[in-house]
Amino acid sequence: MEFSSKLLEKAVNEMSQLPGIGKRTALRLVLHLLKQPQEQTQYLSQALTTMREDIKHCTSCNNISDYDLCEICSNTNRNHQIICVVEDIRDVMAIENTGQFKGIYHVLGGKISPIDGVGPSQLHINPLIEKVKQGGVREIIFALSSTMEGDTTNFYIYKQIMDYPVELSTIARGISVGDELEYADEVTLGRSILQRVPFEKSMVKN
Ligand SMILES: [Zn+2]
Repeated sequence: MEFSSKLLEKAVNEMSQLPGIGKRTALRLVLHLLKQPQEQTQYLSQALTTMREDIKHCTSCNNISDYDLCEICSNTNRNHQIICVVEDIRDVMAIENTGQFKGIYHVLGGKISPIDGVGPSQLHINPLIEKVKQGGVREIIFALSSTMEGDTTNFYIYKQIMDYPVELSTIARGISVGDELEYADEVTLGRSILQRVPFEKSMVKN
């Protein structure tokens, strides 16, 4: 791609670093910004910079938060004895949208994946194990996607906490294997949380 402006080229190159954005799309977006009032670009860049600088991870559940303790963890109306284990914030948002879950979450930040070089130590697994060991957790609900990585991660956690008096369940999938939680419709997802099945049973079925 030949540019008549180095400034334009730099902006397009940066924009095209984003996933799913090729050079042509990047050019279209940048040209769009050029047509808009200058403040529009300032709002965008300010929002991104502030988000990047000020955002935190909840010290309890690892969810992305504006505060040290996220709004869900600091809500005393939620049942802190029931913890739903998810991969990332998109799953938290999807489950919250169903309005069917009144417990709290634990965000792992990924799944165990030897192929991608992701081991348990790179994920936020230990704080969850520690929570269970300290007591006060009645039920753990696994809500990772039913891929090999999701199953491996569930099983790893299960092995660490199987000797503790905590109920383990997994969300009942009305959705096909490999579907990401965020794409499941709210009614199906809500139902699958309410109709969760004991974890041991889900292993036998697989
Ligand atoms: Zn939290």
